[in-house]
Amino acid sequence: MLENEIREHICRVGQLLYDKNFVAANDGNISVRLDEQRVLITPTGVSKGGMTPQSLVVIDMAGNVIAGDSVPSSEGKMHLAIYRHRPDVNAVVHAHPPRATAFAVVRKPIVKPIVAETFVSVGEVPVAPYSLTGTQQVVEAIEPYLKDYNALLLANHGLVTWGKDLKQAFFRHESVEHYAKIMMYSMQIGEPIELDEAQVADLIKLRERLK
Ligand SMILES: [Zn+2]
Repeated sequence: MLENEIREHICRVGQLLYDKNFVAANDGNISVRLDEQRVLITPTGVSKGGMTPQSLVVIDMAGNVIAGDSVPSSEGKMHLAIYRHRPDVNAVVHAHPPRATAFAVVRKPIVKPIVAETFVSVGEVPVAPYSLTGTQQVVEAIEPYLKDYNALLLANHGLVTWGKDLKQAFFRHESVEHYAKIMMYSMQIGEPIELDEAQVADLIKLRERLK
């Protein structure tokens, strides 16, 4: 994909985050790795529903601005940490989808294999300890989880997902929020039934095949 197309894709995903109520006001941030040295990231203080391709910022792996007139997202450190730990990852989406964020607020990880589709597309979603947004603390809080997972709840804050491309990172965001919604409904009408060990093993095999 050309850089211009990536810029447009980020704006489209930003609009989706806004339209789906995954963010309010200026919340959330999105980035795509352009190459080994450069990351394209959303600007700070701008609604994800009203971004223009030109407003995006190119930063290097240390967070310095290489191109663009806007100030990059204050969560850039978190995005860069994910890219550093995961060479296979090329896109990161962070937002505050309300139901997944509710799990983050009560600090309840999404570990139970209950909804087969989510388990295959995302896997387990742990909760990283609370840290002050935009600080180095966030990096230390998330680092232990980056290698083994595709999504992470940030305690009392929100959700971050990543993937091989922006489409996958965004779909994982959607899937976790959808799962959280189903969990909330099912807990209201009964006790969610977990899949058994053999059923989970089959799903893990399926996930490996789909990789
Ligand atoms: Zn946030």
